[in-house]
Amino acid sequence: MTVKVRFAPSPTGYLHVGNCRTALINWLFAQQQKGTFLLRLDDTDQERSDKKYEKAIFEDFNWLGITYDEIDRQSTRLHLYEDATSRLKKIGRLYPCYETPEELAFKRRQQLGQGHPPIYDRAALSLTDMEKESFERKGRLPHWRFKLEDQPIAWEDLVRGPVHFEGEKLSDPVLVRADGRPLYTLASVVDDIDFDITHIIRGEDHVANTAVQIQLMQALGADPQKFHFAHLPLLAGESGEGLSKRQGSLSVRSLQQEGILPLALIDLLGRLGTSLPIEAFSSNKPLIDGFSFSNFSRATPKFTFEELRALNTKLLHTLSYNEIRPYLTSWPQVTRSLWDNVQANLETLDDLGDWVRMYEVNPIPTCLPADISLLQMALETLPAQGWDDTDIWGFWLNALKKRTPHKGRALFMPLRQALTGQDHGPELSKIVRLLGYDKIKARLERALQQIT
Ligand code: GLU
Repeated sequence: MTVKVRFAPSPTGYLHVGNCRTALINWLFAQQQKGTFLLRLDDTDQERSDKKYEKAIFEDFNWLGITYDEIDRQSTRLHLYEDATSRLKKIGRLYPCYETPEELAFKRRQQLGQGHPPIYDRAALSLTDMEKESFERKGRLPHWRFKLEDQPIAWEDLVRGPVHFEGEKLSDPVLVRADGRPLYTLASVVDDIDFDITHIIRGEDHVANTAVQIQLMQALGADPQKFHFAHLPLLAGESGEGLSKRQGSLSVRSLQQEGILPLALIDLLGRLGTSLPIEAFSSNKPLIDGFSFSNFSRATPKFTFEELRALNTKLLHTLSYNEIRPYLTSWPQVTRSLWDNVQANLETLDDLGDWVRMYEVNPIPTCLPADISLLQMALETLPAQGWDDTDIWGFWLNALKKRTPHKGRALFMPLRQALTGQDHGPELSKIVRLLGYDKIKARLERALQQIT
Protein backbone atom coordinates (compact mmCIF):
# COMPACT_ATOMS: atom_id res chain seq x y z
CA MET A 1 0.00 0.00 0.00
CA THR A 2 1.26 3.47 -0.83
CA VAL A 3 0.58 5.73 2.08
CA LYS A 4 -1.12 9.06 1.47
CA VAL A 5 -1.86 11.47 4.28
CA ARG A 6 -3.32 14.91 4.41
CA PHE A 7 -3.03 17.87 6.73
CA ALA A 8 -6.08 20.06 6.37
CA PRO A 9 -5.82 23.43 8.11
CA SER A 10 -8.47 26.09 7.75
CA PRO A 11 -6.67 29.32 6.86
CA THR A 12 -8.54 31.24 9.55
CA GLY A 13 -5.62 31.83 11.92
CA TYR A 14 -1.92 31.27 12.40
CA LEU A 15 -0.55 27.75 12.70
CA HIS A 16 -0.69 26.85 16.35
CA VAL A 17 1.42 24.38 18.33
CA GLY A 18 -1.46 21.86 18.30
CA ASN A 19 -1.99 22.07 14.52
CA CYS A 20 1.72 22.04 14.00
CA ARG A 21 1.93 18.74 15.86
CA THR A 22 -0.80 17.21 13.69
CA ALA A 23 1.04 18.37 10.57
CA LEU A 24 4.32 17.01 11.90
CA ILE A 25 2.94 13.58 12.85
CA ASN A 26 1.40 13.27 9.38
CA TRP A 27 4.72 14.29 7.85
CA LEU A 28 6.90 11.98 9.95
CA PHE A 29 4.69 9.04 9.08
CA ALA A 30 4.61 9.94 5.37
CA GLN A 31 8.40 10.35 5.32
CA GLN A 32 8.95 7.02 7.02
CA GLN A 33 6.56 5.23 4.68
CA LYS A 34 7.84 7.09 1.61
CA GLY A 35 4.26 8.15 1.14
CA THR A 36 2.59 11.29 -0.16
CA PHE A 37 1.70 14.32 1.94
CA LEU A 38 -1.20 16.47 0.76
CA LEU A 39 -1.59 19.97 2.14
CA ARG A 40 -5.30 20.63 1.83
CA LEU A 41 -6.56 24.10 2.62
CA ASP A 42 -10.06 23.91 4.06
CA ASP A 43 -11.04 27.34 2.81
CA THR A 44 -14.75 27.03 2.05
CA ASP A 45 -15.65 29.45 4.84
CA GLN A 46 -15.28 32.65 2.85
CA GLU A 47 -15.90 34.97 5.77
CA ARG A 48 -13.21 33.51 8.01
CA SER A 49 -10.62 32.32 5.50
CA ASP A 50 -7.89 34.80 4.72
CA LYS A 51 -5.05 34.68 2.17
CA LYS A 52 -2.84 36.20 4.84
CA TYR A 53 -3.18 33.05 6.95
CA GLU A 54 -2.72 30.81 3.94
CA LYS A 55 0.57 32.55 3.19
CA ALA A 56 1.54 32.21 6.84
CA ILE A 57 0.96 28.44 6.70
CA PHE A 58 3.37 28.18 3.74
CA GLU A 59 5.93 30.30 5.54
CA ASP A 60 5.64 28.27 8.75
CA PHE A 61 5.95 25.00 6.84
CA ASN A 62 9.01 26.35 5.12
CA TRP A 63 10.55 27.44 8.41
CA LEU A 64 9.79 24.07 10.02
CA GLY A 65 11.14 22.18 7.02
CA ILE A 66 7.85 20.28 6.61
CA THR A 67 7.44 19.55 2.93
CA TYR A 68 4.34 18.62 0.96
CA ASP A 69 3.99 16.72 -2.27
CA GLU A 70 0.59 18.03 -3.27
CA ILE A 71 -1.48 21.06 -2.45
CA ASP A 72 -5.14 21.77 -3.01
CA ARG A 73 -7.80 24.22 -1.93
CA GLN A 74 -11.37 23.23 -1.19
CA SER A 75 -12.59 26.51 -2.66
CA THR A 76 -11.58 25.22 -6.11
CA ARG A 77 -13.45 21.96 -5.70
CA LEU A 78 -17.00 23.15 -5.02
CA HIS A 79 -18.35 21.31 -8.07
CA LEU A 80 -17.35 17.99 -6.47
CA TYR A 81 -19.24 18.81 -3.29
CA GLU A 82 -22.29 19.81 -5.36
CA ASP A 83 -22.12 16.53 -7.20
CA ALA A 84 -21.95 14.61 -3.91
CA THR A 85 -24.89 16.65 -2.61
CA SER A 86 -27.07 15.62 -5.57
CA ARG A 87 -26.07 11.99 -5.19
CA LEU A 88 -27.00 12.00 -1.52
CA LYS A 89 -30.32 13.69 -2.24
CA LYS A 90 -31.07 11.11 -4.92
CA ILE A 91 -30.57 8.21 -2.52
CA GLY A 92 -32.59 9.91 0.19
CA ARG A 93 -29.71 10.48 2.62
CA LEU A 94 -29.82 14.28 2.56
CA TYR A 95 -32.95 15.98 3.81
CA PRO A 96 -34.02 19.60 4.00
CA CYS A 97 -34.48 21.24 7.40
CA TYR A 98 -36.04 24.63 8.03
CA GLU A 99 -35.36 25.31 11.70
CA THR A 100 -33.83 28.64 12.54
CA PRO A 101 -30.74 28.72 14.78
CA GLU A 102 -32.96 30.00 17.59
CA GLU A 103 -35.39 27.10 17.21
CA LEU A 104 -32.51 24.63 17.25
CA ALA A 105 -31.00 26.25 20.33
CA PHE A 106 -34.36 26.01 22.06
CA LYS A 107 -34.69 22.30 21.24
CA ARG A 108 -31.22 21.68 22.55
CA ARG A 109 -31.95 23.44 25.82
CA GLN A 110 -35.12 21.43 26.23
CA GLN A 111 -33.35 18.14 25.61
CA LEU A 112 -30.54 18.99 28.00
CA GLY A 113 -33.08 20.16 30.60
CA GLN A 114 -34.76 16.76 30.41
CA GLY A 115 -31.45 15.02 30.78
CA HIS A 116 -31.31 13.85 27.15
CA PRO A 117 -28.33 14.22 24.82
CA PRO A 118 -28.83 17.09 22.35
CA ILE A 119 -29.45 14.98 19.26
CA TYR A 120 -31.38 16.48 16.37
CA ASP A 121 -34.93 15.10 16.63
CA ARG A 122 -35.39 14.65 12.85
CA ALA A 123 -38.57 16.70 12.96
CA ALA A 124 -37.83 17.84 9.40
CA LEU A 125 -38.18 14.28 8.15
CA SER A 126 -41.89 14.33 8.82
CA LEU A 127 -42.61 17.64 7.07
CA THR A 128 -45.14 17.33 4.27
CA ASP A 129 -44.47 18.82 0.84
CA MET A 130 -47.02 21.50 1.61
CA GLU A 131 -45.27 22.48 4.80
CA LYS A 132 -41.95 22.69 2.98
CA GLU A 133 -43.50 24.84 0.26
CA SER A 134 -45.02 27.08 2.84
CA PHE A 135 -41.60 27.62 4.48
CA GLU A 136 -40.03 28.42 1.14
CA ARG A 137 -42.80 30.82 0.19
CA LYS A 138 -41.99 32.69 3.37
CA GLY A 139 -38.39 32.89 2.21
CA ARG A 140 -36.94 30.23 4.54
CA LEU A 141 -34.33 28.28 2.64
CA PRO A 142 -33.45 24.83 3.89
CA HIS A 143 -30.15 23.61 5.23
CA TRP A 144 -29.45 19.96 4.57
CA ARG A 145 -28.78 17.16 7.01
CA PHE A 146 -27.26 13.76 6.39
CA LYS A 147 -29.49 10.94 7.57
CA LEU A 148 -27.40 8.61 9.67
CA GLU A 149 -28.28 4.96 9.85
CA ASP A 150 -29.15 3.50 13.23
CA GLN A 151 -26.26 1.10 13.09
CA PRO A 152 -23.16 0.52 15.15
CA ILE A 153 -20.03 2.17 13.75
CA ALA A 154 -16.65 0.75 14.66
CA TRP A 155 -13.04 1.11 13.63
CA GLU A 156 -9.61 0.12 14.88
CA ASP A 157 -7.93 3.40 15.68
CA LEU A 158 -4.15 3.41 15.33
CA VAL A 159 -3.81 5.35 18.58
CA ARG A 160 -7.00 4.64 20.52
CA GLY A 161 -7.50 0.97 19.62
CA PRO A 162 -11.06 -0.24 19.03
CA VAL A 163 -13.60 2.62 18.86
CA HIS A 164 -17.32 2.08 18.83
CA PHE A 165 -20.33 4.38 18.34
CA GLU A 166 -24.06 3.76 18.08
CA GLY A 167 -25.48 5.51 15.02
CA GLU A 168 -28.71 6.37 16.84
CA LYS A 169 -26.80 8.27 19.51
CA LEU A 170 -25.33 10.67 16.97
CA SER A 171 -26.95 13.77 15.56
CA ASP A 172 -27.59 13.95 11.82
CA PRO A 173 -24.94 16.45 10.74
CA VAL A 174 -25.68 19.46 8.57
CA LEU A 175 -23.73 19.02 5.33
CA VAL A 176 -24.98 21.99 3.31
CA ARG A 177 -25.86 25.44 4.58
CA ALA A 178 -28.98 27.33 3.55
CA ASP A 179 -26.86 29.42 1.16
CA GLY A 180 -25.78 26.22 -0.60
CA ARG A 181 -22.25 26.14 0.77
CA PRO A 182 -20.87 22.75 1.82
CA LEU A 183 -19.76 22.30 5.40
CA TYR A 184 -16.59 20.65 6.67
CA THR A 185 -17.95 17.10 7.03
CA LEU A 186 -19.08 16.86 3.42
CA ALA A 187 -16.10 18.54 1.84
CA SER A 188 -13.62 16.60 3.96
CA VAL A 189 -15.13 13.20 3.16
CA VAL A 190 -15.45 13.95 -0.57
CA ASP A 191 -11.79 14.96 -0.60
CA ASP A 192 -10.51 12.07 1.48
CA ILE A 193 -12.17 9.73 -1.00
CA ASP A 194 -11.19 11.66 -4.11
CA PHE A 195 -7.53 12.08 -3.14
CA ASP A 196 -7.22 8.39 -2.18
CA ILE A 197 -6.12 9.24 1.33
CA THR A 198 -5.04 6.11 3.18
CA HIS A 199 -4.41 7.50 6.68
CA ILE A 200 -6.48 10.19 8.37
CA ILE A 201 -4.36 11.47 11.25
CA ARG A 202 -5.83 14.25 13.36
CA GLY A 203 -6.70 15.37 16.87
CA GLU A 204 -9.05 13.41 19.09
CA ASP A 205 -11.56 16.25 18.90
CA HIS A 206 -12.52 14.61 15.60
CA VAL A 207 -13.36 11.16 16.97
CA ALA A 208 -17.15 11.66 16.83
CA ASN A 209 -16.77 13.25 13.37
CA THR A 210 -15.06 10.09 12.21
CA ALA A 211 -18.08 8.01 13.18
CA VAL A 212 -20.30 10.24 11.06
CA GLN A 213 -17.77 10.40 8.25
CA ILE A 214 -17.56 6.61 8.04
CA GLN A 215 -21.29 6.48 7.29
CA LEU A 216 -20.93 9.29 4.79
CA MET A 217 -18.10 7.47 3.04
CA GLN A 218 -20.36 4.45 2.69
CA ALA A 219 -23.24 6.54 1.41
CA LEU A 220 -20.96 8.03 -1.23
CA GLY A 221 -19.95 4.56 -2.38
CA ALA A 222 -16.50 4.37 -0.75
CA ASP A 223 -15.28 1.55 1.46
CA PRO A 224 -14.41 2.93 4.93
CA GLN A 225 -12.19 -0.10 5.51
CA LYS A 226 -9.74 1.46 3.08
CA PHE A 227 -9.06 4.29 5.51
CA HIS A 228 -6.94 4.07 8.61
CA PHE A 229 -7.69 6.52 11.39
CA ALA A 230 -5.36 7.85 14.07
CA HIS A 231 -6.68 10.30 16.64
CA LEU A 232 -4.00 11.96 18.74
CA PRO A 233 -4.77 13.14 22.27
CA LEU A 234 -4.86 16.94 22.27
CA LEU A 235 -2.03 18.84 23.91
CA ALA A 236 -2.68 20.59 27.18
CA GLY A 237 -0.83 23.29 29.08
CA GLU A 238 0.99 22.92 32.38
CA SER A 239 -2.11 22.62 34.54
CA GLY A 240 -4.06 20.50 32.09
CA GLU A 241 -5.93 23.33 30.37
CA GLY A 242 -6.47 23.01 26.62
CA LEU A 243 -4.10 24.88 24.33
CA SER A 244 -6.65 27.01 22.58
CA LYS A 245 -6.16 28.12 19.00
CA ARG A 246 -6.59 31.67 20.12
CA GLN A 247 -3.60 31.71 22.44
CA GLY A 248 -1.55 33.82 20.10
CA SER A 249 1.57 33.29 22.15
CA LEU A 250 1.59 29.69 21.07
CA SER A 251 1.51 30.27 17.36
CA VAL A 252 4.45 28.78 15.50
CA ARG A 253 5.54 32.23 14.38
CA SER A 254 5.55 33.63 17.89
CA LEU A 255 7.91 30.83 18.93
CA GLN A 256 10.10 31.67 15.96
CA GLN A 257 10.14 35.28 17.11
CA GLU A 258 11.24 34.16 20.56
CA GLY A 259 14.36 32.60 19.13
CA ILE A 260 13.18 28.98 19.17
CA LEU A 261 14.75 26.77 16.52
CA PRO A 262 12.37 24.79 14.30
CA LEU A 263 14.39 21.69 15.20
CA ALA A 264 13.58 22.19 18.89
CA LEU A 265 9.86 22.44 18.17
CA ILE A 266 10.01 19.36 15.95
CA ASP A 267 12.07 17.36 18.45
CA LEU A 268 9.52 18.15 21.15
CA LEU A 269 6.31 17.75 19.17
CA GLY A 270 7.53 14.62 17.41
CA ARG A 271 7.86 12.72 20.69
CA LEU A 272 5.50 14.47 23.11
CA GLY A 273 2.86 12.00 24.32
CA THR A 274 4.85 8.97 23.19
CA SER A 275 6.80 6.38 25.13
CA LEU A 276 10.07 7.49 23.50
CA PRO A 277 12.41 9.97 25.18
CA ILE A 278 12.44 13.58 24.00
CA GLU A 279 15.94 14.33 22.75
CA ALA A 280 17.81 17.18 21.11
CA PHE A 281 18.27 15.63 17.67
CA SER A 282 20.05 17.75 15.12
CA SER A 283 18.16 16.12 12.26
CA ASN A 284 14.67 14.74 11.72
CA LYS A 285 16.00 11.30 10.87
CA PRO A 286 15.70 9.66 14.33
CA LEU A 287 12.12 10.92 14.61
CA ILE A 288 11.27 9.54 11.18
CA ASP A 289 13.01 6.21 11.71
CA GLY A 290 11.57 5.65 15.19
CA PHE A 291 8.03 6.74 14.34
CA SER A 292 5.23 4.34 15.22
CA PHE A 293 1.62 4.93 16.19
CA SER A 294 2.07 2.24 18.83
CA ASN A 295 4.40 4.61 20.72
CA PHE A 296 1.57 7.05 21.39
CA SER A 297 -0.10 7.07 24.77
CA ARG A 298 -3.79 7.82 25.37
CA ALA A 299 -2.91 10.28 28.14
CA THR A 300 -3.04 14.03 27.55
CA PRO A 301 0.45 15.29 26.76
CA LYS A 302 1.54 18.52 28.39
CA PHE A 303 3.23 21.17 26.34
CA THR A 304 5.17 23.81 28.20
CA PHE A 305 7.26 26.62 26.87
CA GLU A 306 9.91 25.85 29.52
CA GLU A 307 10.46 22.35 28.15
CA LEU A 308 10.70 23.72 24.63
CA ARG A 309 13.15 26.35 25.74
CA ALA A 310 15.33 23.81 27.56
CA LEU A 311 15.43 21.60 24.48
CA ASN A 312 16.23 24.61 22.35
CA THR A 313 19.14 25.48 24.63
CA LYS A 314 20.46 21.92 24.42
CA LEU A 315 20.33 22.07 20.65
CA LEU A 316 22.07 25.43 20.49
CA HIS A 317 24.89 23.96 22.54
CA THR A 318 25.38 21.00 20.24
CA LEU A 319 24.76 22.22 16.70
CA SER A 320 27.80 22.69 14.52
CA TYR A 321 28.27 25.87 12.50
CA ASN A 322 27.06 24.14 9.35
CA GLU A 323 23.96 22.88 11.13
CA ILE A 324 23.04 26.26 12.57
CA ARG A 325 23.82 28.26 9.43
CA PRO A 326 20.39 27.92 7.79
CA TYR A 327 18.88 29.56 10.87
CA LEU A 328 21.24 32.51 11.00
CA THR A 329 19.28 34.60 8.53
CA SER A 330 19.04 37.50 10.97
CA TRP A 331 22.79 37.35 11.67
CA PRO A 332 24.51 36.60 8.37
CA GLN A 333 27.71 38.09 9.75
CA VAL A 334 28.16 35.26 12.28
CA THR A 335 31.30 33.37 11.35
CA ARG A 336 32.33 29.87 12.28
CA SER A 337 34.69 31.11 14.96
CA LEU A 338 32.11 33.48 16.42
CA TRP A 339 29.62 30.58 16.57
CA ASP A 340 32.14 28.21 18.15
CA ASN A 341 32.97 30.83 20.76
CA VAL A 342 29.47 31.75 21.80
CA GLN A 343 27.18 28.76 21.28
CA ALA A 344 27.68 27.41 24.81
CA ASN A 345 26.30 30.69 26.17
CA LEU A 346 23.05 30.76 24.24
CA GLU A 347 19.63 29.86 25.55
CA THR A 348 17.68 31.04 22.56
CA LEU A 349 18.83 32.12 19.15
CA ASP A 350 17.93 35.67 20.10
CA ASP A 351 20.74 35.70 22.66
CA LEU A 352 23.08 35.59 19.71
CA GLY A 353 22.18 39.22 19.12
CA ASP A 354 23.93 40.21 22.36
CA TRP A 355 27.11 38.45 21.28
CA VAL A 356 27.03 39.89 17.81
CA ARG A 357 26.62 43.33 19.32
CA MET A 358 29.44 42.68 21.77
CA TYR A 359 31.61 41.76 18.83
CA GLU A 360 30.57 44.50 16.43
CA VAL A 361 29.84 47.52 18.57
CA ASN A 362 32.63 49.24 20.44
CA PRO A 363 31.50 49.53 24.05
CA ILE A 364 31.51 52.64 26.12
CA PRO A 365 34.07 51.60 28.75
CA THR A 366 33.03 52.02 32.37
CA CYS A 367 36.54 51.78 33.89
CA LEU A 368 37.82 54.15 36.55
CA PRO A 369 41.05 56.23 36.73
CA ALA A 370 42.36 53.72 39.28
CA ASP A 371 42.37 51.11 36.52
CA ILE A 372 44.83 52.95 34.29
CA SER A 373 47.96 51.08 35.29
CA LEU A 374 46.26 47.70 35.05
CA LEU A 375 44.89 48.45 31.60
CA GLN A 376 48.28 49.71 30.45
CA MET A 377 49.86 46.47 31.63
CA ALA A 378 47.16 44.51 29.91
CA LEU A 379 47.90 46.31 26.66
CA GLU A 380 51.63 45.75 26.99
CA THR A 381 51.25 42.06 27.78
CA LEU A 382 48.56 41.37 25.15
CA PRO A 383 50.14 38.62 23.06
CA ALA A 384 50.51 39.59 19.43
CA GLN A 385 50.84 35.96 18.41
CA GLY A 386 49.46 32.60 19.43
CA TRP A 387 45.80 33.35 18.76
CA ASP A 388 45.29 29.91 17.26
CA ASP A 389 46.10 28.50 20.67
CA THR A 390 42.93 27.61 22.56
CA ASP A 391 44.34 28.98 25.83
CA ILE A 392 45.46 32.38 24.66
CA TRP A 393 43.63 33.92 27.61
CA GLY A 394 45.57 31.77 30.10
CA PHE A 395 48.79 32.79 28.41
CA TRP A 396 47.94 36.49 28.55
CA LEU A 397 46.74 36.25 32.16
CA ASN A 398 49.99 34.66 33.28
CA ALA A 399 51.99 37.40 31.66
CA LEU A 400 49.77 40.05 33.18
CA LYS A 401 49.88 38.56 36.69
CA LYS A 402 53.65 38.80 36.65
CA ARG A 403 53.42 42.56 36.09
CA THR A 404 50.57 43.62 38.34
CA PRO A 405 49.67 43.06 41.99
CA HIS A 406 45.95 42.99 41.07
CA LYS A 407 44.16 39.71 41.61
CA GLY A 408 40.69 38.25 41.32
CA ARG A 409 37.87 40.73 40.85
CA ALA A 410 40.22 43.72 40.93
CA LEU A 411 41.96 42.25 37.94
CA PHE A 412 39.03 40.92 35.95
CA MET A 413 36.44 43.66 36.40
CA PRO A 414 38.37 46.54 34.77
CA LEU A 415 39.25 44.26 31.87
CA ARG A 416 35.65 43.19 31.44
CA GLN A 417 34.48 46.81 31.59
CA ALA A 418 37.06 47.90 29.05
CA LEU A 419 36.28 45.07 26.64
CA THR A 420 32.49 44.91 26.95
CA GLY A 421 31.26 48.03 28.72
CA GLN A 422 29.43 45.70 31.13
CA ASP A 423 29.92 44.48 34.71
CA HIS A 424 28.51 41.06 33.96
CA GLY A 425 28.60 38.65 31.11
CA PRO A 426 30.26 35.62 29.73
CA GLU A 427 33.60 34.33 30.92
CA LEU A 428 36.53 36.52 29.95
CA SER A 429 38.22 33.59 28.25
CA LYS A 430 35.30 33.42 25.83
CA ILE A 431 35.17 37.16 25.30
CA VAL A 432 38.87 37.23 24.56
CA ARG A 433 38.58 34.37 22.07
CA LEU A 434 35.64 36.07 20.41
CA LEU A 435 37.18 39.50 20.07
CA GLY A 436 40.69 38.53 18.98
CA TYR A 437 43.87 40.60 19.06
CA ASP A 438 42.87 43.66 16.99
CA LYS A 439 39.59 44.35 18.73
CA ILE A 440 41.05 43.82 22.22
CA LYS A 441 43.92 46.15 21.48
CA ALA A 442 41.59 48.83 20.10
CA ARG A 443 39.20 48.54 23.05
CA LEU A 444 41.95 48.74 25.66
CA GLU A 445 43.38 51.81 23.93
CA ARG A 446 39.97 53.38 23.75
CA ALA A 447 39.33 52.74 27.46
CA LEU A 448 42.67 54.31 28.37
CA GLN A 449 41.94 57.33 26.24
CA GLN A 450 38.58 57.82 27.91
CA ILE A 451 39.94 57.66 31.43
CA THR A 452 42.99 59.82 30.89
N1 GLU B 1 -10.04 21.79 8.72
C1 GLU B 1 -10.25 20.80 9.74
C2 GLU B 1 -9.66 21.31 11.05
O1 GLU B 1 -8.79 22.18 11.02
C3 GLU B 1 -9.59 19.51 9.33
C4 GLU B 1 -9.88 18.35 10.21
C5 GLU B 1 -9.47 17.04 9.60
O2 GLU B 1 -8.29 16.74 9.64
O3 GLU B 1 -10.34 16.36 9.04
O4 GLU B 1 -10.10 20.93 12.12
